[in-house]
Amino acid sequence: MDKKLLIKYSEIGVKGKNRYIFEDMLVRNINSALKVLPGGASVRKAQGRVYVTYDENDYDEAISALTKVFGIAWICPMDQYDKMGFEDIAQAVNEHLKNTYDMLEEHTFKANCRRADKAFPMTSVEVNESIGETVLNEFPNMKVDVHDPEIMINIEIRPYDVNIYSKAIEGLSGMPVGSSGKAMLLLSGGIDSPVAGYMIAKRGVSVDAIYFHAPPYTSERAKQKVVDLAKIISRYSGPIKLHVVNFTEIQMKIYEICPHDELTIIMRRFMMRLAEHFAIKNDCLGLVTGESIGQVASQTMQSMLVTNEVCTLPVYRPLCAFDKLDIVAISEKIDAYETSILPYEDCCTIFVAKHPVTKPKLDRIVKSEHKLDSIIDELMERAIETTEVIEI
Ligand code: ATP
Ligand code: MG
Repeated sequence: MDKKLLIKYSEIGVKGKNRYIFEDMLVRNINSALKVLPGGASVRKAQGRVYVTYDENDYDEAISALTKVFGIAWICPMDQYDKMGFEDIAQAVNEHLKNTYDMLEEHTFKANCRRADKAFPMTSVEVNESIGETVLNEFPNMKVDVHDPEIMINIEIRPYDVNIYSKAIEGLSGMPVGSSGKAMLLLSGGIDSPVAGYMIAKRGVSVDAIYFHAPPYTSERAKQKVVDLAKIISRYSGPIKLHVVNFTEIQMKIYEICPHDELTIIMRRFMMRLAEHFAIKNDCLGLVTGESIGQVASQTMQSMLVTNEVCTLPVYRPLCAFDKLDIVAISEKIDAYETSILPYEDCCTIFVAKHPVTKPKLDRIVKSEHKLDSIIDELMERAIETTEVIEI
């Protein structure tokens, strides 16, 4: 008998002629997630499913890794036997139950046979009835419940093997990362943008990231925090190329020349321009931010209209309709929250005005921006040239 994991994947995106792309990405991502297992693992796809063969001692690590892979709906620990007759199947079911549950306690169950091997001498209904009997004979604390059983004993009788499984551990669902192209995430040290990165990766999107810092006003620790957040996102999204842009000169110049109530909005327009530059350079198909409608002055719909205006790539805002509490819940779930709330300074909060405009007018902002015309190209170029790239 081999202990395997049966991976059932979510249906989204698996239909039609692109199905193999989805499946191959999933297999690739499972393979790389399972590299951490000391005993190794092999991954194989067959008939709309994926099977993982692994060392049973690595069970906890395998489950922990697989529950971070987008595209997996369920993980079922499975006993796989070579083709065998009913007596052996019944024996195997009893073994499975003994190894999986405390059989001194009461449980309800139902046998659920799928017979793909049409040469097998019993029908699936007959197998179910007979397994019901043999289980009841072996375990006095078991009761049949065909409507809402606690234990669903799945028995798959196939031409070359027999699978027995009853537990299903829920995966994250979503789509395999890499199946939807790549986007550039504007990653700050806050709560929202790491969650936005996680959410976009859940739709199968690979993630690169960009962080604007303002040394010496923002510290090395603030930058390290962003690196740490990128590492957390990468547990789900895979490798991230993090661009660290020195934004100090540009920010200082805006502060010096533009009206202070428009600082944030103008600053954000330059962030978007720089993010788009690196996005296009890295074949990204869009930008991603952690903005949520109305959360702060720079995230009113009017502000976002004005910020958005400088971009030609689509800007995805996975959190636009989320309340802060919902965002915090996801942040906690993905283990980013403790890092996100570390109290290091952020470039946006250092040069912020006391009363920023909440309903900026595009023509006024553009006019203010024109005051930077003589110098801004040079500053942008320098910011691009001095950008540091960190492979996460
Ligand atoms: P977050 O919690 O993600 O920091 P926030 O609520 O603080 O968001 P803002 O500071 O207005 O909101 O930023 C809105 C979005 O702009 C962020 O979610 C992020 O995508 C991007 N952003 C803000 N500051 C930076 C920065 N220093 N570097 C990169 N992206 C940034
Ligand atoms: Mg922030």
